[in-house]
Amino acid sequence: MKDYQIIVVGGGAAGMMAAGQAAQNGAKVLLLEKKERLGRKIAISGKGRCNITNEENVADFIRNYPGNGRFLHGILREFDNVALRRFLAHYGVETKVERGGRVFPVSDDAENVVEALAGFLTELGVTIITGITIEEILVENGRVIGVQGIDKRRFLAQAVIVCTGGASYPATGSTGDGFRFARKLGHHVITPRPALVPLKTAESWVKELQGLSLRNVEATLWIGGKKKAAEFGEMLFTHFGVSGPIILTLSRQAGEGVRQGEPVQLRINLKPALTAEQLDLRIQRDFQKYSNKQFKNALEDLLPQSLIPVMIRLSGINPDRVVHQVNREERKRLISLLQELALTITDTLSIETAIVTAGGVDVKEINPKTMASKRIEGLYWAGEVVDVDGITGGFNLQAAFAMGFRAGRAACEEVCSLV
Ligand SMILES: Cc1cc2nc3c(=O)[nH]c(=O)nc-3n(C[C@H](O)[C@H](O)[C@H](O)COP(=O)(O)OP(=O)(O)OC[C@H]3O[C@@H](n4cnc5c(N)ncnc54)[C@H](O)[C@@H]3O)c2cc1C
Repeated sequence: MKDYQIIVVGGGAAGMMAAGQAAQNGAKVLLLEKKERLGRKIAISGKGRCNITNEENVADFIRNYPGNGRFLHGILREFDNVALRRFLAHYGVETKVERGGRVFPVSDDAENVVEALAGFLTELGVTIITGITIEEILVENGRVIGVQGIDKRRFLAQAVIVCTGGASYPATGSTGDGFRFARKLGHHVITPRPALVPLKTAESWVKELQGLSLRNVEATLWIGGKKKAAEFGEMLFTHFGVSGPIILTLSRQAGEGVRQGEPVQLRINLKPALTAEQLDLRIQRDFQKYSNKQFKNALEDLLPQSLIPVMIRLSGINPDRVVHQVNREERKRLISLLQELALTITDTLSIETAIVTAGGVDVKEINPKTMASKRIEGLYWAGEVVDVDGITGGFNLQAAFAMGFRAGRAACEEVCSLV
């Protein structure tokens, strides 16, 4: 006699949605969570505001997943951004849309999302045990039979859905346990690596700019001398390199380049709205305005204060030169610096500091219609533990919810038909 029909391991976005969906469709469900409270990563997401999904048209949605977007095709159609927002509204969380189609709770409080999901689970009678770390998925004759905790407690069930997340931000409970389970069960795991992660640079002058945030700039990624991608928006200088939305988006590819031993460079266009000629005219106007000032005192209309000494040094122009003496050649140097400020990328920060883990359980071994393992009967995978990752903007939570939705329903369809 099984204790439960379905066990869900991991009470994050995917796990809570999977457990609730399975219960809603009639299964007796147990949710096991390592931390004392559910949804710790949701609670810190979007800087505590939870960018829950994106308003992007569903037909274009999968383009936002550099990691196996096509795998999500049917899954996202079944539980899309509209369905997720409707679901949250039903449990008391109204949402709003911000810049870039980003969807947040109207309350700007991620805890409201966790509370809504917890309310959903309670309403459906899901049994929840928190503060328990599962160390093994139990399998007999190629079929899952339950799970075992590190305290050796065993829980039996007809199906197990693993929603243990990736290996980023381990303090939230996601420490890569699912990858270990997968390998032990004979699944192929695509090497976990950081995605959406700050980048380290060789240039030590970035330290002087620590905390400087630049809006409306364009960053172009060059790998092995070839232009690979460009992003427009906001970036941030840190004591080790660069971060901020456009850098995070480029970081996945930048990291791949570094790991392959290729030279990786970012070129920042600080004035992307202007052509080189327009920028030259703009600089000449500024120089006329400040014609009797020294070069070091003539850039304040053009650049944020903290950037001026760095740009002066990099330009090689004498800072004490009276500005009307700055010649055409020197202006040209300044323009190329302003439009192609080069940064040599030496590495990403560690996976622990990444917003998302790329890699995970190989999607080739998961049925995209059900999220069921193709290796072990009764075993399902959902969320970041699967080799799927998206860009910033709400795409990762949407994917986790949608995979959880599908896995919960499919597991229930399977076990309920076994009765
Ligand atoms: C700082 C930060 C900000 C983010 N902001 C956003 C955002 O605004 N929008 C967005 O779309 N995405 C965001 N993300 C990414 C998003 O939060 C994740 O992709 C998503 O939460 C993954 O959901 P999941 O359920 O798969 O995994 P998780 O949310 O990581 O949940 C996994 C759960 O499993 C539990 N667990 C792990 N191992 C075990 C075990 N052995 N036994 C029992 N339980 C276990 C963990 O404790 C955890 O609760 C952010 C991530 C971070 C780190």
